[in-house]
Amino acid sequence: MSDSYDLLVIGAGSGGVRAARISAGYGARVAIIEEYRVGGTCVIRGCVPKKLFVYASRYKDLFELAPSFGWNVGTPGFDWATLVANKDKEIARLEAAYVAGLERPGVEIIRDRAVVTGPNSIRLLKSGRELAAKTILVATGARPRIPDIPGKELGITSNEAFHLDRLPRSILIEGGGFISAEFATIFSGLGVATTIVYRGERMLRGFDEDLRVGLEAGLEARGVTIIHQTDVLGLRQTGKDITVSFSDGVDAPFGAVMFATGRSPNTSGLGLEAAGVALGEDGAIAVDEYSRTSVPSIYAVGDVTNRAQLTPVAIREGHAFADTVFGGMPTAVDHSLIGEAVFAEPEVGTVGLSEHDAATHGDIDVYVTRFRPMMNTLSLKSDRMMMKLITRAGGGEVLGVHILGPGASEIIQMAAIPMAMKASKADFDRAIAMHPTAAEELVTFKKPSYVYRGGVKQ
Ligand code: NDP
Repeated sequence: MSDSYDLLVIGAGSGGVRAARISAGYGARVAIIEEYRVGGTCVIRGCVPKKLFVYASRYKDLFELAPSFGWNVGTPGFDWATLVANKDKEIARLEAAYVAGLERPGVEIIRDRAVVTGPNSIRLLKSGRELAAKTILVATGARPRIPDIPGKELGITSNEAFHLDRLPRSILIEGGGFISAEFATIFSGLGVATTIVYRGERMLRGFDEDLRVGLEAGLEARGVTIIHQTDVLGLRQTGKDITVSFSDGVDAPFGAVMFATGRSPNTSGLGLEAAGVALGEDGAIAVDEYSRTSVPSIYAVGDVTNRAQLTPVAIREGHAFADTVFGGMPTAVDHSLIGEAVFAEPEVGTVGLSEHDAATHGDIDVYVTRFRPMMNTLSLKSDRMMMKLITRAGGGEVLGVHILGPGASEIIQMAAIPMAMKASKADFDRAIAMHPTAAEELVTFKKPSYVYRGGVKQ
């Protein structure tokens, strides 16, 4: 086979795989270069194994509720090794499905590390092969960003959390974002004494305030300790423990320390600067609306561009790239309405503007309800669910939907559809409620709970 391709994709994660598959379907000669496993962060050490672990952790809540429904489950026991082994089996199955999905349309999979040597050329580091391509797509994702503090090598990241030999007796998680909330849920649910340390005032910066307050209250109700406005200054090994020095002068031992302090684009060592590709903040590849870099033959999609570090966004960008370059259909991805879910306990689902941001855009009405999820009503469990609908004044266009509680992610996926169609409150209300569900609250709100006029809450 000659070493000349229509498309060389670097990175077989969500964005790269989609782009390669669709481009090959359009008749392009495509190879995808991957130095690790096919599937990328989401499949191998992100969304998929994370969600499986979240499911595992939620049995804690189900066992607690069981007696209220008449079930006697005795003293439940949990085996970490079984969970890890079953998770690994499922990930291997998914990886095989990804490989098959690439091979079916004829994508060549090259197991190597690539360096870009020019606008149309790549060198493979292991084999030493030189490859040429009309188009190069960089889809190398991102990696955990670890604060540069003494003893940082003693800490883990989400990468390692999926493969721990055993659960630690306690864990400190630094950060107040997605990964912190989700892993605090996982570890606390699996019986690990869990502490979060966050440098800010409240977790999930940028989210609607009621979600932030509710998430922290829910995590704390689950036994998670949250320390605010504090940094980790250093780690040191003390016997089996890691002793953490905090910025408030406290030193405390933990069984493990995990950094969940953001993720940086994977661009170092790729030869991009030498090839003339412009990089932005944190090494992210700068791209236009068609994912084209400053070098016309080189494109980039997914986390490596730092537009939105979310799998479905990477997939959409990868597909749009293929349509644009090989399908004859120039397609720009609309990043303006991206729903988000945090698979914590309580679960968070959000789409559109937060109350704070909406109120700065004009007059709005806010509908809020809080209630005990029906599943808890036979027990003493006092967790509450929160649903919020934000519309333009007078029941106009729905600007934001924010949900905290069971099923939030599933409900928000559906709420995102009418929002993308610019639906109004009246459009929502035309849908007849499903009863008894939590989601019906979104179509049965009568009067606003409060309004903002001229930016003032009334
Ligand atoms: P996030 O950006 O969500 O959160 C990072 C957190 O770390 C923030 O609270 C931030 O504080 C804090 N932080 C950053 N730098 C430092 C530092 N030097 N010292 C102390 N604290 C610091 O990143 P995550 O790592 O949680 O996740 C990475 C990305 O992956 C997410 O942004 C998300 O896009 C994606 N993801 C999505 C998931 C989902 O869709 N369910 C699940 C997991 C990840 P501050 O708020 O002050 O900036």
